[in-house]
Amino acid sequence: MKYIQESPRSIPVMAETEVLVVGSGPAGLAAAISASREGVETMLVEQYGCFGGNITQVGVNSIAWYRYEGTTDVEGIGIEFEQRAQALSGKQSTPFESSDLLDTEMFKYVADQLVQEANITPLLHCYVVDTILEGDTIKGVITESKSGRRAILAERVIDASGDADLAVLSGAPYHKTPKDEMLGVTVMFSCSGVNINRFLGHVGENPATFKDWTGNWNIKTTGKEDDLFSPYLQEPFDKARQDGMIPPEMTSIGGTWSRLTDAGEALGLNMIYMFGYDGSDVHDLTRGEIDGRHQAVLAIEVLRKYVPGFEDARLGHFGMKLGTRDTRVIKGRYAMTEYDVRNQARFEDSIGIFPEFLDGYGVLVLPTTGRYFQVPYGILVPEKVENLLVAGRCVSGDKLSHAALRSMICCTVTGQGAGVAAALSLKDGVNTGEVDINRLQTALKKQGVRLE
Ligand SMILES: Cc1cc2nc3c(=O)[nH]c(=O)nc-3n(C[C@H](O)[C@H](O)[C@H](O)COP(=O)(O)OP(=O)(O)OC[C@H]3O[C@@H](n4cnc5c(N)ncnc54)[C@H](O)[C@@H]3O)c2cc1C
Repeated sequence: MKYIQESPRSIPVMAETEVLVVGSGPAGLAAAISASREGVETMLVEQYGCFGGNITQVGVNSIAWYRYEGTTDVEGIGIEFEQRAQALSGKQSTPFESSDLLDTEMFKYVADQLVQEANITPLLHCYVVDTILEGDTIKGVITESKSGRRAILAERVIDASGDADLAVLSGAPYHKTPKDEMLGVTVMFSCSGVNINRFLGHVGENPATFKDWTGNWNIKTTGKEDDLFSPYLQEPFDKARQDGMIPPEMTSIGGTWSRLTDAGEALGLNMIYMFGYDGSDVHDLTRGEIDGRHQAVLAIEVLRKYVPGFEDARLGHFGMKLGTRDTRVIKGRYAMTEYDVRNQARFEDSIGIFPEFLDGYGVLVLPTTGRYFQVPYGILVPEKVENLLVAGRCVSGDKLSHAALRSMICCTVTGQGAGVAAALSLKDGVNTGEVDINRLQTALKKQGVRLE
C-alpha cells in the first residue's frame, strides 16, 4: 500500500464533557441516558442525522421478537424505549404472533425526546475519526463534520459504535470473525401498494414456522422452536430461482416480513441476507449497498409475481444504510462464551440479565422456557485502554455468544451498564476498570435494572 504523511496541525476543541458516548444505537442511547441520569455531564455523538442506530438507520423494528409467554425478560431502559415508542406510535405486533414492533421512523423522534429529557448534549452529523490518548488513558476524540476537524475532550468515553471503532483507534486488542463465517448483511426495504387483507389471508392458509427457515437462513434449533409461527417467506423465491427469474445461485433472497399498515405498506422487509461482506471494510460496504439494492428490486418483482396481495406492490424505501450484524469485537477483561449463553451463566459482576435467545451462525434458540443468563461487567472493559468502556454488539465474547449479545435489548443492557459505570467511576475518582461492583449494582438496581 502507498502512504503519505499527514502534517501535524492544531485542532480546535469543540467541547469538553464528563462522559462522551459515541454511537446512538440501542447501546449508545441507553449508555448516554443512564449516565446522565446519574447526574454527570453527558454528550452523545452520532455520525448520521438521527439517533437510534440500526433501528432508525437500517429500519430494524423487531426489537423483542424473542419474547414468548415463558420468557424471563430484562428490566431496565430497553423496556422503557419500547414503552415510549408505543406511547407515541401505538402498539403494533406481527400478525399471527404477539411480538411487538417499533415504528422505526417515529423512533427517530422518540430518541430525540429521550435525549432532550435526559439533558444530554446531542451532536448529530459528526463522525469520530480518532481518539486522543495520554499513555493508555483515553482523553477524548477527534471528529470530522461540516464544521471541520474538531476535538472533544472527555473524562470517560463509551464506544457504542457497533464496530468498536474507538477501541480499535485506541490500539485495544480486538478480533473479527473470518469474513467467510460472518453473519450476512442486509438492505432492508419496504413496499407500498400491498393488499394487506389478501396477503394475510394467504399467510393464514400457508403459515410458515421456524422449520421453514432454509437457504441462507438455515438454522439448527433445539426442536421446541420448530413449529412456532414465523413471518417467513422462502417458497416464492425458490420458485423464482427455478423459473429463472432470479439466478439460481442467488440464495441471498428470502426472509421475513413484519409490520403491515392499513395504508397498504409492508415495512421492515428483511429479505436480503448476503454473505461475504465485512461491514468494517469500506469497499465491502459499497458493494453491499449496491448489490443489496439490486437484490431488493429483484425481490419486489418476485413478490409481485408470486405472493398474493403483492401484485401491485411498489418499492417504498430502502434502509438509510446497509445493515451489518457482525464486525469487530473487543478483547475484554472477560470474554463471554457459547457455554455461558447456553448454560444460564451467573457472574458476580452482573450488570443485567438476558433471556436465552441465540440467533446467528446457523443457531436459533428461543427463550420459551424462562432460562436466562447474566451479563458481566467484564465484557465492557477493554484490555489496555483506561477509561474507555465498550457497549453494544462489539462487547467481548466468542462467536456464538455474539448471537445473543448482539440483540438490541441485550445492547441496551450493556449500554446501561456502561453508562452507569462511567458515571460512577467519575464520581468515585477511579478508572473504569476499578469500579466498585457493589456500588455499580446498587445504582443499576435504582435505575430499574434486573440483575439476578
Ligand atoms: C438487518 C438486521 C436485522 C436485525 N434484526 C434484529 C432483530 O430482529 N432483533 C434484534 O434484537 N436485533 C436485530 N439485529 C441486530 C441489531 O440491530 C444490532 O446488533 C444492534 O442494533 C446493535 O446495537 P449497537 O447499539 O451496538 O449498534 P448500532 O445499532 O449499529 O448503532 C451504532 C451507532 O453508532 C454510530 N457510529 C458508528 N461509528 C461511528 C463513528 N465513528 N462516529 C460516530 N458515530 C458512529 C452509527 O451511525 C450508529 O448509529 C439486526 C441487525 C440487522 C443488520
